[in-house]
Amino acid sequence: MKFTDLGLDDVILKAVVEEGYTQPTPIQEQAIPNVLSGRDVMAAAQTGTGKTASFTLPMLHRLLPHANSSTSPAKHPVRALILTPTRELAAQVDESARRYGKYLPLRVGCVYGGVPMPPQVAMLRAGVEVLVATPGRLLDHVGTNAVRFSSVEFLVLDEADRMLDMGFLPDIKRIVDLIPPSRQTLLFSATYSEEIRRVAGAWLRDPVKIEVAARNTVVDTIQHTVLEVSEQDKSRQLVRLLHEGKITQALVFCNTKIGANRLTRHLQTKGVDSEAIHSDRSQIERTTALENFKANKTKVLVATDIAARGLDIDQLPYVVNYDLPHNAEDYVHRIGRTGRAGQKGEAISFCTPSDKESLRAIEKLINKKLELNVSSNSGPDQAAVPASSRISNTDIKRPKVETKRPKVETKRPKGDTFFSEPYTPSESVSETLVPSLDNKEARVDKGANKKPIAALFMPPSSENTGE
Ligand code: AMP
Repeated sequence: MKFTDLGLDDVILKAVVEEGYTQPTPIQEQAIPNVLSGRDVMAAAQTGTGKTASFTLPMLHRLLPHANSSTSPAKHPVRALILTPTRELAAQVDESARRYGKYLPLRVGCVYGGVPMPPQVAMLRAGVEVLVATPGRLLDHVGTNAVRFSSVEFLVLDEADRMLDMGFLPDIKRIVDLIPPSRQTLLFSATYSEEIRRVAGAWLRDPVKIEVAARNTVVDTIQHTVLEVSEQDKSRQLVRLLHEGKITQALVFCNTKIGANRLTRHLQTKGVDSEAIHSDRSQIERTTALENFKANKTKVLVATDIAARGLDIDQLPYVVNYDLPHNAEDYVHRIGRTGRAGQKGEAISFCTPSDKESLRAIEKLINKKLELNVSSNSGPDQAAVPASSRISNTDIKRPKVETKRPKVETKRPKGDTFFSEPYTPSESVSETLVPSLDNKEARVDKGANKKPIAALFMPPSSENTGE
């Protein structure tokens, strides 16, 4: 199929051609005609599949009748609202929408936390048709009347599973209640948990269900290497790998922000250009770290899961799981940063004796046996590593952050406790990353390592990076 077969307007196709896209991806082939015909869509697709264009292109097409060059804010109400879990993903979607819509007099804007409000308020007051937002900051703007949703025709819930995992359900609920029910709703999620189905059941109308091959079915291009190491030897092994010369650039994952900071400092003392990206860093620091990494100015970007979620980094050859993730799905999200668009990539994971159970859960999820390799140069050498630089997986308790949101009056649905009781991630029904909508066998126990998060109408935790 060609892009020209999809029914998109020529001005949009012109921008697509300039992006260098020659052919629609599977999610685009399936989603674009359905969005164009006005259907709600529930799609199982992850970052890297081309999902952003799959909703942005047809939305822009359908907004064409509203395109105008008037300077009056009244002529530019919010017509499409795209909610994303993280600031980085919001910025990426915003950038893509601007590029796809560059020949249209439609305004695209973005709001997320961690940066000053006034420029965002000015942008909102001037008027913007396509608004990309993280839920918390958006509600801040709702609270000050900087934005209204009465003209919203499209609502996109991007990476919906992650937004729920991060405790955003109450915030999203408040926002959805402010949007006219006549809207078209598009939901994108890597997994179809019970919670996602309930959200879809409540907010989508007879959605078209779309599944595309998820990243773990295309990881044939990704080589998985698991190195058996002791906790004490991890930092030395990583430095060794980086100094061997094979790894040109790597995205390295730690399970905690403190761990990421320590590892970054350690790598820097060993002469490895590295920066950290996590939610305790300021937005400017995060943006700079990401830009430096994308521009090849740094060799290593040390990341936590949430900050790295949805990052689109071209030609990333290596992902290193310095800490094996406790949640098996995070393994697939992490390694999905490499091996994109058919390119080769390698995922190197450190596995300590206490990680064996997590490794088994990952094998079960991706349906692949991961051989444990004993490092050729193993053995503790902590003398080379100052005690302060040693990374440990001790359970780090985060301080509770008290954030106060402006009160927004919304109606709550009656009789459904799902929306009025504390949200707890599914204990047993998060489905695989090859999401078959009715594939019950493929379910894995996602909740085993998770704690209940964010009671309804309570602020999300500080790791929730949209704030
Ligand atoms: P996404 O899944 O939306 O994050 O997109 C992942 C990457 O795929 C981005 O770098 C897009 O620019 C790229 N992309 C999206 N659609 C296409 C296409 N049809 N052909 C080639 N690359 C694409």
